[in-house]
Amino acid sequence: MAKLILILGDQLSLSLSALQVADKDTDIIVMAEVAEEGTYVRHHPKKIALILAAMRKFAEQLRAEGWTVAYTRLDDAENTGSIAEEILRRAAQSGADEVIATTPGEWRLIRHLQSLPLKVSLRPDTRFIATRADFNDWAEGRKQLRMEYFYRKMRRKTGLLMEGDNPAGGKWNYDQENRKAPPKDIRAPGPMQFTPDDETEEVLDLVERRFGDHFGDLRPFHFAVTRADALRAMAHFIRHGLPLFGDYQDAMMTGQKWLYHSVLSPYLNIGLLQPMELCVAAEEAWKAGDVPLNAAEGFIRQVLGWREFVRGIYFLEGEDYPQRNVLGHDRALPPLYWGAETGMHCLSQAVSQTREEAYAHHIQRLMVTGNFALLAGIDPQEVHEWYLAVYADAFEWVEAPNTVGMSQFADGGIVGSKPYVSSGAYINRMSDYCKSCAYSVSRKVGEGACPFNLLYWHFLDRHRERFSANPRMGNMYRSWDRMDAEKRAQILEEADAFLAGLEAGGTV
Ligand code: FAD
Ligand code: SF4
Repeated sequence: MAKLILILGDQLSLSLSALQVADKDTDIIVMAEVAEEGTYVRHHPKKIALILAAMRKFAEQLRAEGWTVAYTRLDDAENTGSIAEEILRRAAQSGADEVIATTPGEWRLIRHLQSLPLKVSLRPDTRFIATRADFNDWAEGRKQLRMEYFYRKMRRKTGLLMEGDNPAGGKWNYDQENRKAPPKDIRAPGPMQFTPDDETEEVLDLVERRFGDHFGDLRPFHFAVTRADALRAMAHFIRHGLPLFGDYQDAMMTGQKWLYHSVLSPYLNIGLLQPMELCVAAEEAWKAGDVPLNAAEGFIRQVLGWREFVRGIYFLEGEDYPQRNVLGHDRALPPLYWGAETGMHCLSQAVSQTREEAYAHHIQRLMVTGNFALLAGIDPQEVHEWYLAVYADAFEWVEAPNTVGMSQFADGGIVGSKPYVSSGAYINRMSDYCKSCAYSVSRKVGEGACPFNLLYWHFLDRHRERFSANPRMGNMYRSWDRMDAEKRAQILEEADAFLAGLEAGGTV
């Protein structure tokens, strides 16, 4: 009897494990554009368009390769609106009683599929470099899960940047060389951009009609929507971006949305690119002498280390992970995250480019929008939903550990050993933002003091019990304790006043 082979919008890879066991002659591939997936959080229109356009192209490719594809378009009259209902409809149409899928990257969808009144086989997602068993075996019995050690295991497993048993160049990590402030006249190449063809234009019109009221600019739309174009974007990055990727990895500059970042995560996360091919391309560029070791290592660490590590955490920790809130933060996400005016230039830069591009690079996400939310005590659930909605690369397996764990410390220290908090000084060191800000980064208190300066101490003070014994935070508490009592009281008072203003919905 025919089986249904489900392919989700982030599973657009010919190597997909579900396809490996399917029979071209008898089985039916089910792909569906459904309203539920576009609205369970209000995704950025560019993200929805990327996924729908890439799904349509992938379905065409599958048909060209001889597969039977039952494809539901968003506007089809019979569209039932959810993945589960679409599977049932296709099963009734075809008489199939079995569904094969590659395990989704989100507990919500796994549970939907498991609750279907059909035989459902979920196959492992083999597009990752670490299997779930690799990660779980490594994690078992460890008191603390630290990415750096997992990364070393992955270097050994893959042989990437290895010279025998030793890391290439003698060190596992070249991060010390990767924290340069950018020169004023920096001219970063930016990602390769693509002009939408007629089919993609059709998707853009559809997304405009159906999701035009979501936060984010749909046009101009420049993402690649096929593997062939994603491969071009990858080659462009390796040649033009990677050589300086390491040096300016943590830098931020007004009006410079991309710097030397790859902007390949949307393609990786929907399956147009594979993580291993990206790592191999970076390693080859280093071997050929085209990029320095600190760049190749820094980049490979993100893909082979962080990306695989956070996925391991997501599945190891289980379904309640995105709801965790160990710091008890409960303030509402302020309107400035949705583009309301703010005098804080760093936040306005990060949010406006997020609206325009459905993209911000890691340090903007971590040390600007994330840092501010953590310092201000925003409810991590609201922060999580914001990140999941606004970035083109956001899928829960990767977004939740980064947001709930790394950025908000809401998991109590599973992803990171200390909270990523900083005063304005860090942002000033790594960017040119402070020069154009309504606030003064050098002012610690009083009129015009940078809110990050006030909130930083407020955060440390209100979480003293939890963090003062953390060996990586002792210096911070010693600096706070050395300040005279009057100044400390003033900082806390001004921070409270700022937070009250934020809560009242005023412009900050
Ligand atoms: P580059 O800087 O060019 O890095 C290369 C690749 O490394 C990326 O494409 C990505 O695949 C991988 N990578 C780098 N850092 C991480 C990381 N911490 N976790 C996983 N992969 C990483 N990444 C997502 O893919 N989806 C998300 O939803 C997401 N949400 C985030 C939320 C927060 C609060 C933070 C702090 C980070 C988040 N990240 C997320 C990680 C990282 O910011 C993005 O992967 C990166 O900015 C993507 O841009 P890029 O392709 O230009 O990355
Ligand atoms: Fe951001 Fe403070 Fe700098 Fe303004 S002064 S850009 S708020 S860090």
